[in-house]
Amino acid sequence: LKLLEERIKKDGQLLGEEVLKVDSFLNQQIDPELMKEMGKEFYRLFKDNNITKILTVESSGIAPALMAGYEFGVPVVFARKHKSLTLKDHLYSATVYSFTKQTSNEIAISQKFLSEDDNVLLIDDFLANGQAVKGMLEILEQANASLGGVGIVIEKAFQKGRKMLDDQGIHVESLARIAAFENGEVKFVEED
Ligand code: 5GP
Repeated sequence: LKLLEERIKKDGQLLGEEVLKVDSFLNQQIDPELMKEMGKEFYRLFKDNNITKILTVESSGIAPALMAGYEFGVPVVFARKHKSLTLKDHLYSATVYSFTKQTSNEIAISQKFLSEDDNVLLIDDFLANGQAVKGMLEILEQANASLGGVGIVIEKAFQKGRKMLDDQGIHVESLARIAAFENGEVKFVEED
């Protein structure tokens, strides 16, 4: 998605060797117009996959997932990272090692929001080593739901996640694919 690539070039900040900070349009301040375009693009990419539900992880996956859900006309469910009084029993859950926080988190959803009748599009803001997606796949498995695809806003193609998902034959689409950070600059994967 050209618009997203331009925005990453303009506003993305590099933290160290591997982390891109995009808190001015995605991770803290959110650009609704850009989210809307991303929702449309996810719909274009997965419209033939018979998606019945979208699953993401709080909090940064919610905005793009919501806009995609709007385009598909299906509900959006987000896995929660913190136990709460209202989310205790009858859960599907998985442990996810967080790339940015370097700690393990439990993610969970209530069982009532996913079933074997669902064909689910997984959405997340970033794909790095694939741990967040792996956690969501575990949740799908527990629910006996099927996978309709994985939609990523920003993929860092130089990390392990994309290959891991490709190796499992999973349909992955990323709106921006970063090949490398070179001398402080973002290089995108060239389209063939
Ligand atoms: P993975 O689970 O694929 O290793 O990492 C993806 C998760 O880590 C995403 O949900 C995202 O929150 C976070 N993440 C990974 N890499 C980056 C990054 O470069 N920038 C930001 N802002 N978040 C990242």
